[in-house]
Amino acid sequence: MTFWGGRWRDSRGSNRIPVLNPATESILVESVESSPEQVRAAVDAAAAARGVWNGSSSSERAELLNGIADALEECADELALVVTDEVGTPIAESRRLQLPTAVHTFRSTAAAIEDFSFREMLDNSVIEHCPIGVVAAITPWNYPLYLAACKLAPAIAAGCPIVIKPSETAPLAVTELADLCHRTGVPGGAVGLVQGGGETVGNALIEAAGVDMISFTGSTRTGGRIAAQAGRLIRPVALELGGKSAAVVLDAALLESAVRQTVAKCFQNAGQTCAALSRLLVPGHLKARTEELAVAFAGEYAAGDPRDPETTLGPLASEAQLGRVRRFVRSADEDGARVLCGGWELPNGVEKGFFVPATVISDVSPDMEVAREEIFGPVLSIIAFEDESEALAIADGTEYGLSGAVWAADADRAMRFARRMRIGSVAINGAPTNADAPFGGFGASGFGRERGRAGIEEYLATKAIHSAANG
Ligand code: NAD
Repeated sequence: MTFWGGRWRDSRGSNRIPVLNPATESILVESVESSPEQVRAAVDAAAAARGVWNGSSSSERAELLNGIADALEECADELALVVTDEVGTPIAESRRLQLPTAVHTFRSTAAAIEDFSFREMLDNSVIEHCPIGVVAAITPWNYPLYLAACKLAPAIAAGCPIVIKPSETAPLAVTELADLCHRTGVPGGAVGLVQGGGETVGNALIEAAGVDMISFTGSTRTGGRIAAQAGRLIRPVALELGGKSAAVVLDAALLESAVRQTVAKCFQNAGQTCAALSRLLVPGHLKARTEELAVAFAGEYAAGDPRDPETTLGPLASEAQLGRVRRFVRSADEDGARVLCGGWELPNGVEKGFFVPATVISDVSPDMEVAREEIFGPVLSIIAFEDESEALAIADGTEYGLSGAVWAADADRAMRFARRMRIGSVAINGAPTNADAPFGGFGASGFGRERGRAGIEEYLATKAIHSAANG
C-alpha cells in the first residue's frame, strides 16, 4: 500500500516483493511496489503541505507525538508480533526493545520540543530555526519501528512533511505506524509512505523534485551512493550508517561483567544492530579467561522459534544476510583465527530458517576481514592487545566510528580513553545508554545525529532576519 494526502491507495508498481518470515522461510505477504508516479505524488502532497504545521505550537506538536506514543503502546503486543514475524527478533526482545524504543523516541522528542527555542535574538537580528522542508526518509529492517520513529518524530517536531520508505525486507510494522500517525491526527500530507526496493522506489524518492532533505539509515555502501546523489542534487543529507564497535577492557577488574555485557550487546537481535559490540579487545594476559567467559555466555543463547518467549537467538532477517555472515565466519577460519563456538552451520535443534549459531572467534588480528567489516550477525571477535595505545589504535582502526565501550577499574582512566576514541557514543563500565542523547557516527558510520534535541536540529534550517527596529 502507498499512503499520501491522508489516504491509503493500492500500490501500482510493476514489482512484487515477497516479505518472508525468516524463521520459517514462508511468505508473509507479497508487497507491491509503489509506482514512480505514486512516489512523485507522495512527494508532491508533502510539498503542498510544507506549511501544514505553521499554525501549530510546540505544545500541540508535543501532544500529538505523545498521542502517537500512546497509540503505539496500545497495540504494542500486536506490533511486537509483526516485528518478530518480519525481522525474526525473539518475541521477548521485540517486547523489551523493538516497541519501547519506538515509544520512547516519540515521547522524548515531545519533551525536547517543549523547551526548544525556534527563535533567538542576536543584537538587531532575529535568528529563526525554520523547518527544512520535505524530508525523504529511507530506513533499514533491523529495528523497523524505532528507526522510522527516529525520523518521523523529529520531522513532526520540526514541522517538516516527511515521506518514508521502509525496508522492503520488513515493511509491515512501519506501514502500521504510518497509519497510526494518521489516526492520531497527523494532518494529511504531513506523513507519506511509499513501499518497495531501494534501487527502484528508494532511488525515485531521493530524486523526486520537491524533496528538500534526505535522511537515510542503512549500510555504508548505500549511504555513500545516496551522499553522492545528494551532492549532485545539492540537498542536505543525514546518514546513519554501519558500525564495527569495540568493547575495550583495560584491566581485569570488571572482566566478567565486561564480557557478559559485550556478548549481550553483540548478540542482541542476532547481531543485527548497528551499534553491536562485535569486537572485544582485551590485554593479552586476559585472553584465555575472556575466551572461557565468552564461550560460556554464548552457550546460554537458545536459538529457535522467535514467537517462543524462551527463544533468545532468532534468525537473521534474510537469506542474503545468512550467506554474508557465513562467508565472514569462514573467512576468519581461513585467515587463521580460531572459531571457539558456533560457526556457519544451523544451530543445534534448528532445521530451517536463516539462523546462525552464537559464534565466538579468537586469535583475531586487526587486519582480518572479520575484524574490519561489519558482519551484522551474532559473531564476536576477541582481539588481544599489548598496551593502551595499541588498544586505541585497534579500536579506531576500522573505517567506522559509531559506538563502543570501555571498562577499567579506574573510571577516570576509562573516561580518558573514551574521550580519545573517534566514535559517536561510548559507554563506560557498563553504563546504560541514554536514549535521549545524540546518536550518530564518525567516518564511514555517517554524519548527522538522531534522537532528542539533536534529532530535531537535523530538520531545521537557520534564517537570520536583520531589522533596524530590533537594534
Ligand atoms: P541497506 O543499505 O541495504 O538498505 C537500507 C535502506 O536503503 C532500505 O530501505 C533499502 O531499500 C534502501 N536502499 C537500498 N539501495 C538504495 C538505493 N540505491 N537508493 C535508495 N535507497 C536504497 O541496509 P540494510 O541491509 O537494510 O540495513 C543494514 C545496515 O543498516 C547496516 O549496515 C547497519 O549498520 C545499518 N544501520 C545503521 C544504523 C545507525 O543508526 N547508524 C541503524 C540501523 C542500521
